[in-house]
Amino acid sequence: MEQKEFKAESKRLLEMMINSIYTHKEIFLRELISNASDALDKLYFKSMEENLGLTRSDMQIRLEADKDARTLTISDNGIGMTLDELENNLGTIAQSGSFEFKRDNEKTEDVDVIGQFGVGFYSAFMVAKKVTVVSKAYGADKAYMWQSEGSEGYTVSDAEKDTNGTVITLEIKDNTDDENYDDFLKEYKIRELVKRYSDYIRYPIIMDVEHEKLKEGTGVDGKEPEYEKETVTETLNSQIPIWKKAKTELKDEDYNQFYKDKFYDYSDPLMHIHTKTEGTATYSALLYIPEKVPYDYYSKNFEKGLQLYSSGVMIMEKCADLLPDYFSFVKGLVDSEDLSLNISREMLQHDRQLKIIAKSVEKSIKNELKKCLKNDREKYEKFFEQFGIQLKYGIYEAYGTNKDELQDLLLFKTSNGGTTTLSEY
Ligand code: ADP
Repeated sequence: MEQKEFKAESKRLLEMMINSIYTHKEIFLRELISNASDALDKLYFKSMEENLGLTRSDMQIRLEADKDARTLTISDNGIGMTLDELENNLGTIAQSGSFEFKRDNEKTEDVDVIGQFGVGFYSAFMVAKKVTVVSKAYGADKAYMWQSEGSEGYTVSDAEKDTNGTVITLEIKDNTDDENYDDFLKEYKIRELVKRYSDYIRYPIIMDVEHEKLKEGTGVDGKEPEYEKETVTETLNSQIPIWKKAKTELKDEDYNQFYKDKFYDYSDPLMHIHTKTEGTATYSALLYIPEKVPYDYYSKNFEKGLQLYSSGVMIMEKCADLLPDYFSFVKGLVDSEDLSLNISREMLQHDRQLKIIAKSVEKSIKNELKKCLKNDREKYEKFFEQFGIQLKYGIYEAYGTNKDELQDLLLFKTSNGGTTTLSEY
């Protein structure tokens, strides 16, 4: 079988992953589960578009750990990959939407890179010495296998698989003095990682677990109790998206963790805004103001926007119409029952409901900032140092139509080194 080489960037990233000293190697599981969830979403969309009649409840992600073989398997019955897709998606890092390779900055520590970006599929190599992917695209009759032991390259070959979807098998590394890779084969650890990182994944993440159960007819009528093992399939994640949970159920850490996972930030956000609104528009929003200006904020690659969900299903990754330019630094999402799943981008722009939501989102942000200015000056100054210029720009923009709205949010330097608002002045 021919061994193929990774593209240069992929190879570099892979080497980084393999030799990673990153302490959060465990995030590999989150990355693979997210990919599986995306693959299920894609199939679900396809089914809706083409009336294939598939239902969400048939879709799942299965985890299997085999201690003797030292393998951890992540399977999904999603869209799957064709031979071309296997090669293109897994052989080239450029294919990965969430990683921008910082070639110019050779000094970048891998710790930083891994923390700042979603690193995707290759993170598997932080814990695995060999990765095997068997996949069958939906509607295809043939399945293929992709295999790699690291940066030397990969092979692809024919494979057997009855149903559509992808099975990823990780051959877990041997323990070292510093690292207990065995943990990733243990039920409690897998449970913990799913809870921490993937609890809100909308598909069941299932695993067969062994329980001890009382043998029938024992332990009664004076008989000695005897136990036997039984295997049950458990769902490990609650599947309720964090923004659908009650505020009282959530701690700051939950909000922050979600932010970091979802928006690939290394630091906690400066503030979060969680709202549920009913009335002319019914929606939930979870919004974040980053602690610092994003690294690409002033580049032409930066796109403002909020993720848009329709009843918990993502319909758009960056909906620009939800944010005015002067709040373009806000990250987050909006989930509304009022939007149709199949709504197209063009239609969305004219959607009345979306306009109402956008207005209301804008108001929430403004109110939150005003509240912060009033109650936590130090935090507000931090915010203003990062994003104040954006607000000022908002005042000039559109011939000053937003002036009255925004001027209360401005801070000015005073001669004694402090700050003042217009009204204080
Ligand atoms: P990203 O998810 O950020 O695009 P990844 O490196 O994690 O980057 O994955 C690269 C691509 O491989 C994905 O975009 C997707 O097209 C494909 N892929 C990965 N895992 C799966 C899977 N389980 N099923 C189908 N396609 C997958």
